[in-house]
Amino acid sequence: MRVLPFLILLISNSLLGADPYPIDPNVDIQHYTFDIELFPDQSRIDVVAKIDVAVAGPTLKSFYLDLDDENTDGTGMQISDLSYNGQALTVVHDDDRILIDLPETLKQGEEFALQISYSGTPKDGLIIRTNDKKRTTIFGDNWPNRAHLWLSTIDHPSDKATVDFHVTAPKKYQVIATGLLKKQESLSGKMVKHFWSNDVPIPTKVMVIGAAEFEVFEQGQAAGVPVSTWLYKSDAKKGIKKFAETVNILNFLNDWIGEYPYAKLAHVQSTTRYGGMENAGNIFYYENVVNSAVPRDRLIAHETAHQWFGNSASEKDWHHVWLSEGFATYMTMIYVEQMKGIDEMREDLEKARVRVVDFNRKKPKSSVIDTTVVELNELLNANSYQKGAWFLHMLRHKVGDEVFQASVREYYIAYRDDNALTDDFRAIVEKNSGQELGSFFTTWLYRPDLPKLDWSWRQTGGDQRIGIRIKQAQMRAFDKLSVEVAIHITNRAEPILKTIPVNSLSKEYSYLVNGQVTKVELDPDRKLLFEGDYTKDARK
Ligand SMILES: [Zn+2]
Repeated sequence: MRVLPFLILLISNSLLGADPYPIDPNVDIQHYTFDIELFPDQSRIDVVAKIDVAVAGPTLKSFYLDLDDENTDGTGMQISDLSYNGQALTVVHDDDRILIDLPETLKQGEEFALQISYSGTPKDGLIIRTNDKKRTTIFGDNWPNRAHLWLSTIDHPSDKATVDFHVTAPKKYQVIATGLLKKQESLSGKMVKHFWSNDVPIPTKVMVIGAAEFEVFEQGQAAGVPVSTWLYKSDAKKGIKKFAETVNILNFLNDWIGEYPYAKLAHVQSTTRYGGMENAGNIFYYENVVNSAVPRDRLIAHETAHQWFGNSASEKDWHHVWLSEGFATYMTMIYVEQMKGIDEMREDLEKARVRVVDFNRKKPKSSVIDTTVVELNELLNANSYQKGAWFLHMLRHKVGDEVFQASVREYYIAYRDDNALTDDFRAIVEKNSGQELGSFFTTWLYRPDLPKLDWSWRQTGGDQRIGIRIKQAQMRAFDKLSVEVAIHITNRAEPILKTIPVNSLSKEYSYLVNGQVTKVELDPDRKLLFEGDYTKDARK
């Protein structure tokens, strides 16, 4: 019964692959307006949420919105009013969900308005805290599903909506949010109300506000939109140097992928728990980004690439998050290849390979699309990022540069402001390449293991010939694997290149070299993801 495990794998991919969020196909949020008053000294917010909803299925009588309810530590949100088209509804708020029980049954296409007033101390999601400069800051940090800890939403990337944030904050704060600033109103009591509006549908994971005592640097236009950097006042002078490349990065990605999806791009120093968080149109970076000795170009490129992949073309299901992370990681490598050179890109590929191999040793059963993961933060792993990037790199070699770029561009255009699964991307690459790619996608995205190459070489016949043995040493063979080999010889500037098929049998391939071999390098152009040594020098 050797076929059985493979059959089970296929079934689990297609039928059991949905993430655990209970998606309600009858509901489609159109627009959120969050009117938020910030009370930073009390770590509290008052919110009036106006939500425009459309009936997406045949009928709708009731559904749930996500919002954290009261927690034993005193955090959480307490609802004071809930209404449907202006008519009060009974509040049922349990298990971090609000039951919306409509007074009538609605039909497909009908729309209605909800209004929810609530307040409380966010347990997480909106981080109100004192920063390293002893100044209070407020930042949204929603990934993956922490928006509902402060925003009444359908907190899943499959339901995108436009959003307005009307934020009332003490006058000393600058406030940023997704979209464009439409106006600011001075209120009594040293408060200012900031009206931000975003008319492009986005997922809740990247729908945020931020408030701090910022210095704002306008860095000019790129991709037709304004680019700015927002840094804590005391860090501004030294910090801004880290963001010198932002305009070039945005222009590069805009040219390579297609039209940038949002109305602005701001780079913001913040308190996100991540190194960078790709919030739509305003990327939040960790506080110490300004202190790091490392140049931040790659981090900026990664988060900027997410504006297309993750924010605009978003995974429909969390288990396909490599469509965000693998794409952002590989787009960064393409940026490095074009702007810093192929050698630096190969170094990045090598570092990525080490991460994949290490992760595979720790979690040998984990694949890129790993439907066994329940805790979503566990999806932020070397498979989603580095193996996803390596997959795209290998796909590019399989279909060629032109088809690859055209397919990535077409995928973005097709799923802009929308959601996709891996098969949607595969269909586009198959159409453009004329190749059937099912087994290639399955091998690298659904299979957990990596090819492990055992290899050796020896010179035979004096310095006349070389014999090279390479075999796959992992449990189950990878089909149709071949690898390039560079044979370095004394008194020859360029190595001899050969391509050797690799299967699970050990077979010696013999080549005429007419010279003393100093070193043999496997996969010199970094085209194959495998576990094993890259080079073997001649024995001294
Ligand atoms: Zn990322």
